Amino acid sequence: MDNILEVKNLCVSFETFFGEVEAVRDISFSLKRGTTLAIVGESGCGKSVTANSIMQLLQSPPAVYKQGEIIFEGEDLLKKSENEMVEIRGNNISMVFQDPMTSLNPTMNVGKQIVEGVKSHKNISAKEGHELAIEMLRKVSVPQPESRVKQYPHEFSGGMRQRVMIAIAMAANPQLLIADEPTTALDVTVQAQILNLMKDLKEQMGTSIILITHDLGVVADMSDYILVMYAGQIVEQGTIDQIFSNPKHPYTQKLLQAVPRLTMDKKESLHSIPGTPPDLFKPPAGCAFFDRCHKAMVICEENMPEFQDHGEGHCSRCWLNHPSYVEYGGEK
Ligand code: SF4
Repeated sequence: MDNILEVKNLCVSFETFFGEVEAVRDISFSLKRGTTLAIVGESGCGKSVTANSIMQLLQSPPAVYKQGEIIFEGEDLLKKSENEMVEIRGNNISMVFQDPMTSLNPTMNVGKQIVEGVKSHKNISAKEGHELAIEMLRKVSVPQPESRVKQYPHEFSGGMRQRVMIAIAMAANPQLLIADEPTTALDVTVQAQILNLMKDLKEQMGTSIILITHDLGVVADMSDYILVMYAGQIVEQGTIDQIFSNPKHPYTQKLLQAVPRLTMDKKESLHSIPGTPPDLFKPPAGCAFFDRCHKAMVICEENMPEFQDHGEGHCSRCWLNHPSYVEYGGEK
């Protein structure tokens, strides 16, 4: 299976009045065609900056692409002009944003919003546009699409608005869909419906998906691969099975413990990760998770761990997994 997207050594910073914030620090990953990759991590870890970098939606300045490449279908998006990116956005790569309440235009009916992006890339008549909008609403399981196509966002519930957002993103049949926390603003039952809908659309239309989330619970059923980010870096990546059944990085292990389980004892409290991520104005020289890690060793504070390969694409960035672990003061 070939890669539709390859991100290589990407570094993105923001230049602010107080100094440079190193939001994304030398990340590399790839996305296989027709698969779903989940990018997981807590707020501020760089996952949305990564997504917005692929779409080239970051305003520059203050954003600065310090180094790296974002290869989509063999071409580097960082070398594209704004006019070229306008052609790619919506047509080849689409994005579903977190909050459907604020992402839709309240003054335009949903039918017009669904075809607006398609019209900017293709010459279609008003009748074809109307039919496409109905077909897309039907695809995302909005009931009575013929009448609802003329309605405005305020006439839809939160879950239905997110379905409309997905219809807008999928209308031009893009090769890549980026969903940035698509279910965060929704209640759990609607969350499951939206995730199932994205899964079905992926199968029907063959779209590759990047799913950005802070919640490992939502990715298990939806994704093929997971990439765990912390403090602007990738700390672990692998398949769903590898990450869920054999997490290697202490941060991934803690994230998994923080997912609520049905089998939890009533007296058992939810796990949390004490402390806060480091200040990215001045990222630490060593492991960024050092201050919060219950397994930290002396070497971790000053020395950045390299990626260790665990086989079949599973790798993590932790000294515990280094072949010389014992020498560094750890126990086997
Ligand atoms: Fe913990 Fe050290 Fe591994 Fe970082 S490198 S996660 S501090 S054990």
